[in-house]
Amino acid sequence: MDIPKHQAGFVNIIGKPNVGKSTLMNILVGERLSIITSKSQTTRHRIIGLTNSDNYQIVFSDTPGMLKPQYELQKNMMSFVNISLEDADIILFVTDLYETDADIEHVIEKINESGVPVLLVVNKIDLAKPGQLEEVTAYWTSRIKSELVIPISAGEKFNTDKIMQEILDRLPEHPAFYDKAELSDRSERFFASEIIREKIFENYKKEIPYSSEVSIEDFKVKKNIISVRAIIYVERDSQKGIIIGDKGAALKKVGIQAREELEKFFGKKVFLETFVKVEQDWRKNKLKLKKFGYDP
Ligand code: GDP
Ligand code: MG
Repeated sequence: MDIPKHQAGFVNIIGKPNVGKSTLMNILVGERLSIITSKSQTTRHRIIGLTNSDNYQIVFSDTPGMLKPQYELQKNMMSFVNISLEDADIILFVTDLYETDADIEHVIEKINESGVPVLLVVNKIDLAKPGQLEEVTAYWTSRIKSELVIPISAGEKFNTDKIMQEILDRLPEHPAFYDKAELSDRSERFFASEIIREKIFENYKKEIPYSSEVSIEDFKVKKNIISVRAIIYVERDSQKGIIIGDKGAALKKVGIQAREELEKFFGKKVFLETFVKVEQDWRKNKLKLKKFGYDP
């Protein structure tokens, strides 16, 4: 009797900020796990999402975008990129139509030396002008050693099936790494904080989103309702004022939007309380970063 083979492996999604990595991962995993916004560097942590079937398990990692570290938080983010090169069975290197390899030459070199098969994904082709896709493809294939170029539009879910097929063609034979009932290695608290952070990114300008961190102080799941108490940390008093807004209007808006999104994500009613606190210059302080869970 033939024993059906089981495949399992790690597929790491890397690329510069804002090229569509998180959008793609969510499509591949089929759940809204990563937060996606139009601002770069929304993804600060590495997030794992699983796609399971009877015969395979794909462990996707969505990583923060690659860049030259400017401050402590970014240094920490970049260490995820290094780790993701080490444990990958397949790398999905994602680019859009506009990015070049400026600032990430050292990472490209590491990818080329790693020996890990690379699928080069050119995203946002819905926006391509005539000839642009060919140009972008020629540029990146001259820089990255890849097995295949896959043009897609993650936004329009175009050609993303092709990626799944190419992954399955290369996935090693291996038993599952994670319980198949699990979707992600991250806790519900983590997703709650990411959803609130996404709303902060959407509602405030300039440095505010980058200076904010969300900590879930309390997360209680009751029969029909989840009650969440979140603290939004900012770096300075002036930022606290901006977050709260005139008569609390800005924070109220964020709270309403976050609650709606949390209810969609968890499929339950959510009671959300938000508070704002100042944690002076937390982005530059290693101890404070650790407290917020940035532990390389
Ligand atoms: P990441 O930083 O690489 O994770 O990028 P995100 O997934 O957060 O996406 C960055 C921005 O690009 C968001 O505004 C997305 O809606 C947008 N985006 C992602 N994929 C596509 C696409 O295929 N076409 C277009 N036009 N926009 C896209
Ligand atoms: Mg992202």
